[in-house]
Amino acid sequence: MTDWTWHKRAQSAIAQAYLTNSKRPESLVKGVYPTHMARGQGCWLWDHFGKKYLDFVCGLGTNLLGYSHDLLVGAVSEWVRRGWSHSLGTHLEVETAEKLKEAFPAVDAWKFLKSGSEACNAAVKIARAATGRNWILSEGYHGIGDDFVSLVDPALGVPREPHYPRPIASLEGMPICKETAAVIVEPVVTDASPERRKWLESLREACTKAGALLVFDEVITGLRWPKFSVSGAWGITPDLVVLGKALGGGLPIAAVGGKYAVMNGAEYFVSSTYAGETLSLAAAKATVTLLQTKFDLGQLWEKAGAWVAKFNAACDGVVQIEGYPTRGVLRGADLPKALFMQEACRAGMLFGPSFFFGFPHIEAAPDALPAIGAIAQRIRGGEVRLAGEAPKSPFAQQVREKRS
Ligand code: PMP
Repeated sequence: MTDWTWHKRAQSAIAQAYLTNSKRPESLVKGVYPTHMARGQGCWLWDHFGKKYLDFVCGLGTNLLGYSHDLLVGAVSEWVRRGWSHSLGTHLEVETAEKLKEAFPAVDAWKFLKSGSEACNAAVKIARAATGRNWILSEGYHGIGDDFVSLVDPALGVPREPHYPRPIASLEGMPICKETAAVIVEPVVTDASPERRKWLESLREACTKAGALLVFDEVITGLRWPKFSVSGAWGITPDLVVLGKALGGGLPIAAVGGKYAVMNGAEYFVSSTYAGETLSLAAAKATVTLLQTKFDLGQLWEKAGAWVAKFNAACDGVVQIEGYPTRGVLRGADLPKALFMQEACRAGMLFGPSFFFGFPHIEAAPDALPAIGAIAQRIRGGEVRLAGEAPKSPFAQQVREKRS
């Protein structure tokens, strides 16, 4: 059962008792899951009682190389000594942008920001500045900017603005209008089918024809797909690409990038005191370097795909992981899904609204398959009762599922 000590303290010190929507007790199995963690290493987390969990949430997709990887600790430590927010730009910010250009050859120039939300907001602003148009079409989750929160009712705290984005589905099958500044999509949430690829290719064509910019929000897919991205793997070049999550291995850094004509073409204003903070930049530069030299995203993709196939075979009739190998969502009817998450948690495995498979899982995850199979077997046999509350879908999922 859940120990509520830290949650109670959070209720009296943290607004709404949470900082990240998907980490709230309501997004997991409330009453069974732990609420706060004490530490992490590799793909393992420990709670305050010292209980160890094999973590398939990976800090919501940030910890691709694992918590506190030695090589990242080394890269960050160097800048702990050299300082982390200087009065002028640093060589490190230039080097990190150059390094990212190697991974994203279609991008000429980057802006660094601190969160995916900020970078998506910047992408919208840059697109409006570059095109002189206002309308935005949106599909998927792009963070907490007013523009995007307006997509899901009741959007409290967001004034009704005439040019807030329309869901893309409302214009599906129609030409993208001449007033559209940008179409922003998560290129792949879970559907990585040839049909999705074709749809993105036709979206690319439609945007070019209409003079609208195509923005790929690769906050999740970036540095998680072979060739670093969906755009790289599928050879579809957006006008702007947004990165976050795995870029800094869990340190706060996001980026928006595109061709010089778009990134430098108009006098837009995007700036932040912390944009050049060096600890996150050091982590980002090291992450990209390691993905070029030591960690092979193609190999991760293969190993993850094989593991997910075994998971899905073992959990047939209970839950399935739906998505691409390194990221998916748990699909299933509400009750068996909650029962599965509950029993996995009791057995020392954390599954959340999103599933992530990172490099440390290659070694650690196969050993968990027999326990996972046994849990599914007990659920199929009707031996398990729900001891907490079934998870509610977090805001990001609600936006993703909203089609009009
Ligand atoms: N875009 C996508 C695709 C995301 O998944 C997220 C975060 N889940 C964001 C944007 C917002 O990023 P952040 O939470 O860092 O603001």
